[in-house]
Amino acid sequence: MTTTLDVARANPNAPLIDAQAQFAAPKAQLVGLDRLELMEALASVGVPQKQQRMRSRQLWNWLYVRGVRDFADMTNIAKDLREKLDAAFSVARPQVVAEQISEDGTAKWLMRFPAASPTEQPVDVETVYIPESDRGTLCVSSQVGCTLTCTFCHTGTQKLVRNLTADEILAQILVARDRLGDWPDQETPAGMTAPQDGGRAISNVVMMGMGEPLYNFDNVKKALLIASDGEGISLSKRRITLSTSGVVPMIQRCGAEIGVMLAISLHAVRDDLRNKLVPLNKKYPIAELLEACRTYPGVSNAKRITFEYVMLKGVNDSLADAKELVRLLKGIPAKINLIPFNPWPGTRYECSDWDQIERFADVVNRAGYASPVRTPRGRDILAACGQLKSESERVPAWKKRAMAAALGEVDTASPEDAAQEDAAHAG
Ligand code: SAH
Ligand code: SF4
Repeated sequence: MTTTLDVARANPNAPLIDAQAQFAAPKAQLVGLDRLELMEALASVGVPQKQQRMRSRQLWNWLYVRGVRDFADMTNIAKDLREKLDAAFSVARPQVVAEQISEDGTAKWLMRFPAASPTEQPVDVETVYIPESDRGTLCVSSQVGCTLTCTFCHTGTQKLVRNLTADEILAQILVARDRLGDWPDQETPAGMTAPQDGGRAISNVVMMGMGEPLYNFDNVKKALLIASDGEGISLSKRRITLSTSGVVPMIQRCGAEIGVMLAISLHAVRDDLRNKLVPLNKKYPIAELLEACRTYPGVSNAKRITFEYVMLKGVNDSLADAKELVRLLKGIPAKINLIPFNPWPGTRYECSDWDQIERFADVVNRAGYASPVRTPRGRDILAACGQLKSESERVPAWKKRAMAAALGEVDTASPEDAAQEDAAHAG
């Protein structure tokens, strides 16, 4: 059974409002500011320099330890300062347009972020929560749409609308904690499933929602450093995983500057096939990608890189592929994650037969990689990997051409040229 609760009055299918006609600049968010910026915000409302550090600590605690959404609840801050802050800044959450709960406990939220300028539209973003017995994983989006055109991915059919800001990335975590009762002294609300180990509802975060996180590096970095800050949300960096389709030049910086776990969307063991599935491979081929993994800062047997491999029937699922996968990864501290392909309306791919996935997994197992198959979750609410796609934008013609070209159907400009062009427009 799937229940769908509309937790806001808005209709998720309603067209986005005419931004130009109704635009009211949103107040600046305090969520997403680093500690220095928070002190500057306090200075801007007249807090004397000698109090700024202490006040910024208080704010940090209210925002990230207590999860307050209203300045009025910040009871250890004087009323007149709360009023000044309230006049200039916001700590409010985005609108939750829809909430869906799968029969397996997976939850999906559609959040709407306001336009930042009169020429923009508000954007809709999907965030997914996957409860298991010993952990709860939140799958967070980094962009609305994606510039890349992986041919098996639903998000890949969508234009990049824009990068999400650090506060919008963090807001996905904060909203999920609200809905799951994951703040101190709260209980899991009826209808929600949480891990059974008594730990926090959200113990893990994966940057595996919409978008390519390494193409939005600065905002993702800022958000993840706040999420892992020990005096705030306090998620261990070992429990945060950033998944990339292989933006090689940014991989080193990801390790050195963010320090989270890395997942690589490999999906093919030969360049000719990977060029089709993940067209970014034409720019950064497999050998270069694996070299960046070998030298990933902090990589070790205790801190392995996850290699994701989507199982596509008759495309990349032969036993020869499995053997080559094991051979390619030799020498890299690795985990292998076989993802049954999640179909979406209009896709031309099929998921490999279960027997074939098991045979493939056996080869991988025998090479010493444990439990490599990821159980699909939330399929009834289209919440599984690669099924997220907001309705903010329809597919542009160039992107349809680029995807068809990647599949070898038409001869046209390279998909990355088109993607770069799009990124330039978006940026
Ligand atoms: N852009 C990043 C992160 C988002 S996608 C990346 O590509 O890694 C998260 C994972 O879901 C990636 O491994 C992606 O390849 C995989 N994925 C995309 N579409 C999928 C689908 N339809 N079925 C299964 N996995 C999919
Ligand atoms: Fe973008 Fe990742 Fe989907 Fe590729 S798999 S189109 S990089 S979101």
